[in-house]
Amino acid sequence: MEHKPHIAMLPSPGMGHLIPLVELAKTLAFRHGYHVTCIIPTSGSPSKAMKGVLQALPTTIDHIFLPPVNLNDLPAGGQPGIQVFLTMTRSLPSIHDVLKSLVETSRLTAIILDHTATDALDVAKELNLSPYIFFTSSALALSLLLHLPELDETVSCEYRDLPEPLKLPGCVAIDGGDLMDHVQDRKSELYKLFLCHTKRLRLAEGIMVNTFMELQGRAIKGLEEEEGGNPTIYPIGPIIQTASSTKQVDGLQCLSWLDDQPSGSVLFVCFGSGGTLSHSQLNELALGLELSGQKFLLVARSPNNELANAAYLSDQSHDNPLAFLPEGFEDRTKGQGLVVPSWAPQAEVLSHGSTGGFLTHCGWNSILESIVHGVPLIAWPLYSEQRMNAVLLVEDLKVALRPKANKKGLVSREEIAKVVKGLMVGEEGKRVGSRVKGLKMAAEKASSAEGSSTKAISELAFKLQASKTGQS
Ligand code: UDP
Repeated sequence: MEHKPHIAMLPSPGMGHLIPLVELAKTLAFRHGYHVTCIIPTSGSPSKAMKGVLQALPTTIDHIFLPPVNLNDLPAGGQPGIQVFLTMTRSLPSIHDVLKSLVETSRLTAIILDHTATDALDVAKELNLSPYIFFTSSALALSLLLHLPELDETVSCEYRDLPEPLKLPGCVAIDGGDLMDHVQDRKSELYKLFLCHTKRLRLAEGIMVNTFMELQGRAIKGLEEEEGGNPTIYPIGPIIQTASSTKQVDGLQCLSWLDDQPSGSVLFVCFGSGGTLSHSQLNELALGLELSGQKFLLVARSPNNELANAAYLSDQSHDNPLAFLPEGFEDRTKGQGLVVPSWAPQAEVLSHGSTGGFLTHCGWNSILESIVHGVPLIAWPLYSEQRMNAVLLVEDLKVALRPKANKKGLVSREEIAKVVKGLMVGEEGKRVGSRVKGLKMAAEKASSAEGSSTKAISELAFKLQASKTGQS
């Protein structure tokens, strides 16, 4: 039997969940001496990006791919959200087997789960493991999840028809239509699955959230002071990927291109691991970047006219995305911009001195990475909880500008050019730039030796240790 304390981690499919979980695993392994095993549910062969992250793991962190589950009964081209939940549920027998064998052969005493994996709380209970949840988005989104069971009982209409914006304790008010996709149709299968999981969150012994006191102190306090009691909340962020987090295979040429650009001159444009635009929106975006006259680095993905997260579970475009850009675009913008297909080394790009702005789909990891590197943002939310994140960025934290869509729901090239110039060379860009620099310093403080997040992680590591000896 191995003597090192051992923790299992269970991420859900999707790079935005895997990356922070793996980074937390490294902290627990390096700073607190844990052996960590990441158990990876899948529904097909893992993406290149996923393999890149897992292959770069240090030896104290193992990973085990579970046998792929069969999702052939789901309609083709359906919501990735449903696929994620069902992948987790259908993986339960294999999760059980792996955990049981780890319990028998090591000092495994706790499991850290993604919030989409609350079914595994029962397995944890059966095997006498302490269950914790790592929530990889903001305290605002966590607050919505923890309040959803109550909202479901007290609100009779669709949330998007609520007459007033929703005001969660300590959080910026959010219009019902801006709440996360999962709650936008209460009759849908996605809503029902999501609601079930939110009801079970309180069964965890603690919930870690990837944020920090200086960023979302009021929302965190709101969660801590909840009547009826939440599990202990651990604000442990920003937990982000670093340049060494991945054996990067794609998009490296853009770093040498950045080396040749003036300091702070380039707008990085990237829609996360799975964001897709419609064909006409991709066209407007490209022409808007060109019209702005500003330098840009665009990560282009093949368009999809139905889903805004079509690439979420694959991260690669099947067709050549560059073929969907406007005719002659690449030639005309030589010297002004660079287009890379599908994937770029985002951590390296955001930490590069030539990067001066980030047009983002508002995935929470992308937001934290931008804040840590002091890069001001343009908020272009696409799916999941990203509209909530955009409201937080623009109205509460004031570190982002947001382009407006026209009546047809399209953001025009003129609007894009205006907002890009505003961020890169305008007065409003200076304002959000100085606020994001303030948050960068706050993030450094939270992660310093005496910082709030470092203390929260140490407290958690101690709890995990205590649960081994039955003192929790
Ligand atoms: N990412 C990257 N290169 C890309 C796109 C995404 O390295 O071309 C990384 C990004 O740095 C972040 C994660 O993938 O760590 C995406 O997570 P996020 O929460 O921003 O969005 P999601 O993909 O989950 O919607």
